[in-house]
Formats: sequence, C-alpha cells, structure tokens
Amino acid sequence: MLFREPVERVFAHLKSSPEGLNNGEIMRRLRDFGQNQIAQSKKKDYRIEYLKEYISFFPILLEVAGVLALVADYFQPGEGNDILAYAVFAAVFINATFTFWQKFKADKAMEALLKLVRSEATVLRDGKTVNIDATQVVPGDILILSEGDKVAADAILFEANDLYLNLSVLNGESTPSLRKLEAGDARRELDAKNMVFAGASITNGNGLAVVSATGEATEFGKIARMTAEVGKTETPIEKEIKHMTAILTVLALAAGVVFFLLGWFSDRGLLISAIFALSLIVANVPEGLLPTITLSLSLASQRMARRQALIKNLNSVETLGSATVICTDKTGTLTQNEMTVQMAWLADGCHCSVSGNGYFEKGEWRFAESGRQSNERLASMLQVAAVNTRANVDHAARNAFGDPTEIALLVAAKKSAASIEGWEKVKEYAFSSDRKMMSTLVEPADNSEQILTVKGALEAVLPLCTHWQSANGIETLDEHKIADINSQNQKMAEQAYRVLAIAKKIGDGENDLIFLGLLGLMDPPRSGVKEAIEQCYSAHIRIMMITGDNPVTARAIGERIGLKIDEVLTGHELDNLSDTVLRAKLSESHLLFARMASAQKLRIAQLLQENGEVVAMTGDGVNDSPALKQADIGIAMGSGTDVAKESGDMILLDDNFRSIVASVEEGRTVYFNIKKLTTYILSSNVPEIVPYVLSFFLKIPMPLSVIQILLIDLGTDQLPGLGLGSEKPEKHIMQRPPVGKNERILDWEVFKRGYFMNGVFEGAAAMFAFLGFLFLSGWQYGDLSISDEYHRQAMTMTLLGAITCQMANVFTLRSWEDSIWNLRGVNKMIWFGVGTEILFVLLILYAPPVQTVFNTATVPLAYLLLLIPFPVLLLLNHEWYKKRLRNRWAAAA
Ligand code: ATP
Repeated sequence: MLFREPVERVFAHLKSSPEGLNNGEIMRRLRDFGQNQIAQSKKKDYRIEYLKEYISFFPILLEVAGVLALVADYFQPGEGNDILAYAVFAAVFINATFTFWQKFKADKAMEALLKLVRSEATVLRDGKTVNIDATQVVPGDILILSEGDKVAADAILFEANDLYLNLSVLNGESTPSLRKLEAGDARRELDAKNMVFAGASITNGNGLAVVSATGEATEFGKIARMTAEVGKTETPIEKEIKHMTAILTVLALAAGVVFFLLGWFSDRGLLISAIFALSLIVANVPEGLLPTITLSLSLASQRMARRQALIKNLNSVETLGSATVICTDKTGTLTQNEMTVQMAWLADGCHCSVSGNGYFEKGEWRFAESGRQSNERLASMLQVAAVNTRANVDHAARNAFGDPTEIALLVAAKKSAASIEGWEKVKEYAFSSDRKMMSTLVEPADNSEQILTVKGALEAVLPLCTHWQSANGIETLDEHKIADINSQNQKMAEQAYRVLAIAKKIGDGENDLIFLGLLGLMDPPRSGVKEAIEQCYSAHIRIMMITGDNPVTARAIGERIGLKIDEVLTGHELDNLSDTVLRAKLSESHLLFARMASAQKLRIAQLLQENGEVVAMTGDGVNDSPALKQADIGIAMGSGTDVAKESGDMILLDDNFRSIVASVEEGRTVYFNIKKLTTYILSSNVPEIVPYVLSFFLKIPMPLSVIQILLIDLGTDQLPGLGLGSEKPEKHIMQRPPVGKNERILDWEVFKRGYFMNGVFEGAAAMFAFLGFLFLSGWQYGDLSISDEYHRQAMTMTLLGAITCQMANVFTLRSWEDSIWNLRGVNKMIWFGVGTEILFVLLILYAPPVQTVFNTATVPLAYLLLLIPFPVLLLLNHEWYKKRLRNRWAAAA
C-alpha cells in the first residue's frame, strides 16, 4: 500500500522526484508499461454488419420476390421471369452495398470526430510544465492538477490546495471529497484520501501528484474491464424516421395485399401478382432514408468540425438550427482572452500606464504624475500580484502556461523592477469564479515575515480590507477612501478594462487586508465577432452575455462589439428577482448578466426554456456543467475544463463566438437538407404507384414493370438524394427565423411537397409519356394485345417520364425556400448523380443487354419531346411555391 508511505518513500519507490522524469526514462516506461489507455471495447465486425444488410425485413421481401420469380420461370419458362429474378437479386445486392457504404462512412466520420476530442494532461517533466496527450502519461510522472481537470491516471498527492475530487465514475458518490496529504485509515487505494484516480475530476482547488498507475492498472481500468459496452441511444431524428417508416410500411403492406388480390383475381397469375406486390411494397417504403440521413448528419458534423465546432451528439446538429437564444461567456469567446495589463492605480492616487501588448512584447511603466516613492509602491504591488499566481511564462521560449489574467500579471511585473525570485509559496486559497479572488501565503526571498498576497474583483477584496497603502505608510480605510477606490474602479471599467484589486497582509488569513491598488487589464474583442453578432440578429437569435466580470466592463465591451443591451443585471440583482419577474424580463429584452455565479446560469437556462426558447449556452468551468446539461445545446469551450467538455453537446475548439454562429448555420442547413432529400425520395413513389393503380381501372397495358420500379427507387434516386443531403447553406438561411422547437423535420410540408405537389407532376408525366406515345403511334384504347417490343417502348416512356421529372425535382429541391437562381456553388454529388442518370437513360434507350434486363426498347427521338413539358411544369410550380413562401416571410418580418 504505497499510499501509506511517506512522500520520500513514494518517490523512491516510483523512481521519480518532484521535478518529474527525464525523456529517456519516459520512453523506457512507455515501453514497459504501455500507453495510458484502456483497450477499446469490442470493435464492430464490418463483415457481419454487411451481411446484416441482407437479412433485414425489406431485403427479405425482395429476396422472396426474386425466389418467386425463379419459381415462376420454372413453371412457365421463356417469359423473362429468370431475368427478373436476377435483376431483383442484383437490386438487393446494390441496395445492401449502398446502405452499408453509407453507414460505414457515417461511422468513420464519427470516429474521426471523436479522435479530435483528445484528453490532455499537464505534467511536470524535467522541471518543465508540459501539456501532453493523456495516453502518454507514465508511472512516476508528476500531474499538475487544476480545477475542472479530468485526472489522467491514479496518483498520490504531495501538494493539495482545497482539492476536491468527484469520484462518481468510480463509486457513484457525487459529493466531491476533500483530498489531503495523509491517507487516513484507508485499507484500499480507492479509500485513500491522498490519492486521485483516473476518470475522476477535480471540482475545486489544485495540487501536485505522482502517478502510481496508468492504463488498465488504474482503478478505473479495473472497473472498465468489468462493465459491458454501453448501448447507443437512439436520437429523436432516428426515432422519427423509424416511426415514419413503420407507418409507411403498414400502408404499403396493406396496399400490397390489395394489389396482390386485385392482380390475382384479374388473371395475372398468383406468382406474378405476388412478385409485383412485394416489389411495390419495397418501392414505397423509404427504407434507405435512415442511413442517408445519418450520413448527411455526420457529414454536417464533419463540416462543423472544419468550422471549429465539434459535435459530440449527432442530434444536436439538428437542435442547433432551432436555437433562439445564445447565452455566451465573454472572456475568450467574445474577447481574445489574451490579457495585457495596461494601467495601474495605486491606492495613494498615482496613475501609471505600461506599454507593450500581449505576452512577449517588451514594455515600460510610466507615471502619469510624479510621486514620491511611487516606483517602489508600484513594484511592490506588482510583486504581490505576480507571486500570487499559478501561471508560468518562459520569455526565452515565448511560452506561457496558465490563466491569461495571471500570465498578464507576470508579464506586467517583468516590465517593472519587481522580482519574485526566491519567494517561496507556503499555502494557497484557490481562485474560483464564484469567489472571484485568490490568495497565496508566501515567504519573501529575504526570509522575512510571511505575507498573504491577495488579488481579485474589487467587490470581493475590498470588504476584506481594513487599511490602505498611502505614500506615508499604512492608513486606516475610511468611507472617504472607499468611495475614492470605487469611483476609480468605475472609471477603469467604463474604459472596458478588467479590473483587479490587489491587497496584502503580514501573516495568514483572508481578513484585515491592506489595499494596495487596482490593475487595469485589456482583453480586446475577437475579430469577426461584431459581424457574427449582426448575423445572429438578422437570424432572429438573441444573444445574452453572461460573465463573471464587472457590469461596467461587460457593458463597455458589449457596446464595442455591437451587442444590443436593454438592461444589465448583476448576479446579486438576479437573486432578488422572482422567477415570474425574471421570466418576463427574459421574454423579450436583450439582457446582459454580469458578476454571475455559475449556478445562476442554470436558472437562466431553465427560465428561458420555460418561455419556449431553445437555448445554446456556453461554459468552461466545473460549475457550468449543470447549465450545459440543462441547455438545449451545451457548448463547452475547447480550452475549458474536461468536466465542462463532458457535459456539453458540442465543443468549441477555438472558443470563438463566430464558430457558434457558423454551427447554427450548419444546423439549419442540415435540417432543411433532410427535408429536401426526404421530399425527393417520396416524390418518385407517385409515378411508381399511379401507373399500376390505373392499369387496374383503365383498359391499358401495364405501364411500368417491377424491375423498372426498382430501378427508380434503388438505382437512379440514390445519388442525387445523397447530394441533396449535402447541400451548402442557402443564401438566406441566416435571415429567416429559427426552426420552431416543435416543428418536426418530417412534417406535413414534406409529405405535401413530396406526394401531392412534385409527386403529382411526376405521376402525370409518367402517364402522359406512356399514353401520349401509345396514342400518337396509333394505338386504340382498350387494345391489350400489343406486341412485346411496342409494350417495351411504351414502358420506356413511362420510366423516362419519371426519371426526367426527378432530374428537374432534384434541382428545384436544392433549396427549400430560396430561388433556384440564388443557389450557392455547384453541388458535385448532384451533378454526378444526374450524370449517372443520363448515362442510364442512354443505356436503356440504346444498349440491348441493358434493355433486356430493364424491359426497355429504343423509342424514336420525336416521341421523346413528350418528356419535356412536365419536368418544366414541376420546376416552375415548385419555384412559384417557394416564392410565395418567401413573400410570406417578408410580410411577417
Ligand atoms: P467570463 O465569465 O465571461 O469568462 P470572466 O473571465 O471575467 O468572464 P471569471 O473568470 O469568473 O469571469 O472572473 C470573475 C472575476 O474574478 C474577474 O472579473 C476578476 O475580477 C476576478 N478574477 C479573474 N481571474 C482571477 C484570478 N486568476 N485571480 C483572482 N481573481 C481573478
């Protein structure tokens, strides 16, 4: 039980030191202990997955149809049923392969995305802080633990400041447990208070620990080996499609039975009627829709990843399209999070400014007015600020680690005469967003008395101060001075500075502090944020900034980036508002929340949702995770804590607000793409059914054969359909209102456009081509004894009627609302699909072997003119319909 040993023995046993391991040792240990990961759960066997495509319900229907055709051929040879059988089997093969390919591609896309969600660990190696991939951690490594980290390996602590560990993944206990430097009376590792464990997360504080076990040797590894693979849950869109497919299946089955009986009684023969009915069922059920949609969702998430937004859950792609409010952090998301101290105000009233931007530019401090000993007091304040940090700046290597606020303080101190060389840290009162301050007890280089160094928001620090540093020494803080300090704070905040108050005390305890002064840090807005905000407003999305910063600073920054601000509310004011009042405020106004504690974000998300809003909420800290889970789309910052990343639906790799807006655009796009492709696939069902139905009621030859139906459905429709699923964002997509929360993707609109608008044109086109050809070539109504060749020519016309309409359909459906003339770019997949269709048309018209399979024949060119009117009418009608929709939007706006 290593954790019971004294620290020195632990280091000796692990052959390590508080400085960490060196490179050679690390390589050796990686070889000996392997990577720090748990073997993947069983991989999918894709051969079995592929075979499954042949044994689900719909392929089986077709396979039965194929076998029946073989049987029919056996009893009545020479009627072409053998060719039909082979063609049906070929259709099963093509469909299974295409569906498998789509699922495989979607899987691979998701795998690639998940690889991007890498887990990192901060370790000390050879005395230097480095960020490494968590898989590279070895026993003996020194883990630098901070609030929000997910622990990379099991490790024994040798420094712990207010360190709380959430062990729920290991023991189900969700109350964080305080870590100490003694093991207590633990008998097993999991109970040792001085240990942290792989998979657990740090909810508060920070510390240092030496790794005792990695990979499968960790406590988490042991459990992971025991538990079975977790099942994948279905997303709502999957459920919706399965539901729709089920309804359509029942309808198709019922229709199939009716047609079977009708066929049988009208002397078409038992087998032939059965084959026809089965094929019709398969043709009418869009069973290939789910894989196509899943693929288009995964392609959308790949596009989002390219735009720096990593989707963890496919379903949120679609939810993003409905976002009506974005609640966003300020620091890092709207601003660059690259802080620079630009000014200081000493408690004695001296103003100073400092030059040099960013972390590595040189600069100098200057006083606005000359004051006795000010230089010394400035240096002393900067010293107190700089020693009270956990950050690390290596000027030579131009490397900086840690919180940008703290890095800025180190840089500012370096520009002055302040030095913290030789100062020893004794104890730390950690920073948290809720406390808004941090203190460190230090021992100065000259071993004089210990000093508590304090920095933080003025509201947090000033109430703890009793004295202030004047030019003449230490003076008692009175009301007059407090007013002076507050007014200075206000002035700096109005200029968009993030203000930090600095204080100190001889001895320990966060009370009776001496106020030293204020530092003004500038965090410039990110480029492009202003435009992204404008885009949100035109997309009818409200933006609410929720920040821990001061209300005045927050408003000043907000105004710079064009944020609409009706009212600024602070966390304190918020607590005094009842739910009803706050809900009313949230319903329409543009609010800005400042000095917020993380817990308050949850309340805002809940109330907004009660108002019917779809909320996208950003967060980075541990305490943000309830709000991230509550929001419709939780957006974790890429630079945020592991805990936040685990709670979010999406990770913003570059922390940038612009990327949120880009992903809303993608979300809206994919929503409409799914509508488009479903409409497209439903449309072609009409020309497949109508001819068959009419053939029962009119005295006409059969207009379309089984294999031709399958050709449209499982052949020519597939690629253009996939093309629609990958359409680029429509031009006006960010100028329309968000998709309604309760609007379903597969709504009446899809069925209306699919079956009753475009589908009707297609049905009419097919019959017009068929009957037009027959009548123009001298056929008499009611003559059913036409020659085989003549019949094939007529059927070719029906088939071409449907295919040409689908070509027009795919182009007009490229946009759901925009005009066909207003589209963005060329959709290569659609052109490829249409190119294949044209090739098919030529083959069925002119290639005899293909004609044998698909029951087609060459048709004289003049008759092909019959194919022109309906695709044109379909296109014009749908364009006109979209125009009316746009007019309605415009009138409503
Ligand atoms: P946002 O919530 O938009 O990211 P923020 O970064 O200002 O804004 P917090 O990090 O919660 O929010 O900081 C809140 C306040 O705490 C700051 O305004 C500052 O006064 C103080 N503060 C920030 N960082 C530190 C720190 N490292 N040490 C002490 N005080 C800090």
